[in-house]
Amino acid sequence: MGANCTEIFGSMVFNDAVMKERLPGATYKALKLHIRENTSLTLEVAHVAANTMKDWAIEKGATHFTHWFQPMTGITAEKHDSFIAPAPDGKIIMEFSGKELIKGEPDASSFPSGGLRATFEARGYTAWDPTSYAFVKEGILCIPTVFYSYGGQVLDKKTPLLRSQEAINKHALRILRLCGDWDTQRVFTTIGPEQEYFLLDRTLYEQRKDLIYCGRTLFGAKPPKGQEMEDHYFGSIKSRVAAYMKDLDEELWKLGIYAKTQHNEVAPSQHELAPIFSMTNMACDHNQLAMEVMKKVALRHNLVCLLHEKPFAGVNGSGKHNNWSMGTDRGANLLEPGPAPEKNKQFLLFLFAVVKAVDVYQELLRLSVATAANDHRLGANEAPPAILSVFLGDELTGVMDAIRRGSDYEKKAAREMDGGVKILPHFLQDNTDRNRTSPFAFTGNKFEFRMLGSSLSIAGPNFILNTIVAEILDEFAGRLEKAADFEQASRDLLQETAAKHERIIFNGNNYAEEWVSEAQKRGLLNLKSTPEALPYFCSEKSIRLFGRHNILTEEEIRSRCDILLENYSKTIHIEALTMLEMLKKDILPAVVSYLNELTTVAWNKKKLELPASVYKTEEALILKLSHLYAGLTAQTDLLNEVTLGAAERSEAHEAAVYYKDKVLPVMQEARALADELEANTAEKYWPFPTYGKLLFSV
Ligand code: ADP
Ligand code: MG
Repeated sequence: MGANCTEIFGSMVFNDAVMKERLPGATYKALKLHIRENTSLTLEVAHVAANTMKDWAIEKGATHFTHWFQPMTGITAEKHDSFIAPAPDGKIIMEFSGKELIKGEPDASSFPSGGLRATFEARGYTAWDPTSYAFVKEGILCIPTVFYSYGGQVLDKKTPLLRSQEAINKHALRILRLCGDWDTQRVFTTIGPEQEYFLLDRTLYEQRKDLIYCGRTLFGAKPPKGQEMEDHYFGSIKSRVAAYMKDLDEELWKLGIYAKTQHNEVAPSQHELAPIFSMTNMACDHNQLAMEVMKKVALRHNLVCLLHEKPFAGVNGSGKHNNWSMGTDRGANLLEPGPAPEKNKQFLLFLFAVVKAVDVYQELLRLSVATAANDHRLGANEAPPAILSVFLGDELTGVMDAIRRGSDYEKKAAREMDGGVKILPHFLQDNTDRNRTSPFAFTGNKFEFRMLGSSLSIAGPNFILNTIVAEILDEFAGRLEKAADFEQASRDLLQETAAKHERIIFNGNNYAEEWVSEAQKRGLLNLKSTPEALPYFCSEKSIRLFGRHNILTEEEIRSRCDILLENYSKTIHIEALTMLEMLKKDILPAVVSYLNELTTVAWNKKKLELPASVYKTEEALILKLSHLYAGLTAQTDLLNEVTLGAAERSEAHEAAVYYKDKVLPVMQEARALADELEANTAEKYWPFPTYGKLLFSV
């Protein structure tokens, strides 16, 4: 398609412009009021909206509609119903009622509920979330909804996110009022999620069971070339990839997704897509959609888009950088430092609230990104470590330091950058350098939370981030509202916060070995794995926090924790079974074939009564392969045994710990032996494409 961006952008979205144009004035107004003030919607309004939506969707080629929701599986769910209704003359009419728009009743018993919903009460509800636009995707009108159980318990990822927005709004407004701002009516969080991914050739992908079942390779010897030349990052984009990116952009634009930047990443075959930021709710829906579209468009190009956090050992994994800030209905960014941050009290209150929140609730942020797949990244020398810390950069760290000491901040003059060549533009050096190693970095006027894995729904980390910041804003506001002298009280508050939470600031290299011991000295948590992190979700502190802000009840938290632990165990279980299958059916038989060839050659040479030196090399290789083969056979039996042993662990946390301590190490050992065998086996015998082929074929 020769795309005209402005024409195709949002063409498949029932957005504000479409609503304004098509809905009767009164309906449009009622709907806007409903969205803005959370008033309840009458069935009449819903009915008119539904009818207009249906007519619009049919023009866009839709025949069905679905309530589109985000259950705890981490991906989106949809169940398609057609618009057709029988007409008396034996024909059909296209119908879509207000009731169908606002409420759905999916048989929800097959979605994870962590015991919240017994299968005998399988009824679940989806309810229209009018704050996110409906859209048409592949002939289906998709209506964004939230999902809850018959008993009213939250079963999805969206509801806590929406609730956490309310909490931020409420308490940020209190701070603004204290600072003399009576005009702002609404505060919301904004997110720009940078999405990393791998592109592989589909034909090669289909030859690997590990990629098909697990989304990552479970075996693979190191290729002669990896990412050591650093020649892929921002490298020129190959034409096959460029064609994919162009197609992808167009599909995303149609859905109203602001796809903006595309570039190559560090690892071969790795790329990144960055959207322009938007309000949290929309950013979350858009990121879920983007991940889905990325995969679908890839297939059209005979490619496969991998979103797994660690598809290849020894090569960088994929993350998702969650750029986060707080914005207002008046267009302000509350994390904008302005020209003199040291004097900008309002900015400092918001900034320090975030710093304190990260320090006080480190464990919650850590567990918000904990998955079996992300465990392969965090702490490896490529992604932020499992330790939370905040990067503020020189200037703001200087400001914080001065506040702590109660002294004036001495501003350093910004350095002029001129590149040493007259014709190049001159500009001032940014006041924060980049620190790519920090898990939580201030980058000019936003924070970049970098611990997220590439496939993760951003709903989880952001409802937690919003809630912990709301909690501290609430605390700050409570204290300042009581104070007789706001100026003095806020100075004291900032000073106290700087002194108490200085330990969470770290501007150095987070990948360095020394940081681990330094962080330990500072008393920072280092929760290395998912089973170590998740139990903190059910701590009294966490239950109190989420309860206070009406985000989740204790029952809902416990069920979520169980779901996440079970996900962890299931992921490793599937990986172990896949490994066993590949070992027994592919790898071990391949080695036998090669051994057979080698033995035949050696035997024939022997039969010719040639001197031993002539078949010595075959013998040595036969010996080496046979040893490795024996080792791998034993390891396969062991893996079988420990995988079966998992069935005895029925409690979710106990099972997860078992998989981490008993199954993963055996898998690692089996892989090491198999990789060594791969390196010593003729390629024609090896049963699936090597790392070299996978990484360098697109
Ligand atoms: P980089 O991190 O590569 O330097 P940018 O700083 O330009 O790139 O932006 C990275 C991401 O941050 C983009 O998705 C951008 O839209 C997003 N972003 C920029 N400003 C904000 C903001 N106020 N709130 C949330 N995200 C933002
Ligand atoms: Mg970035």
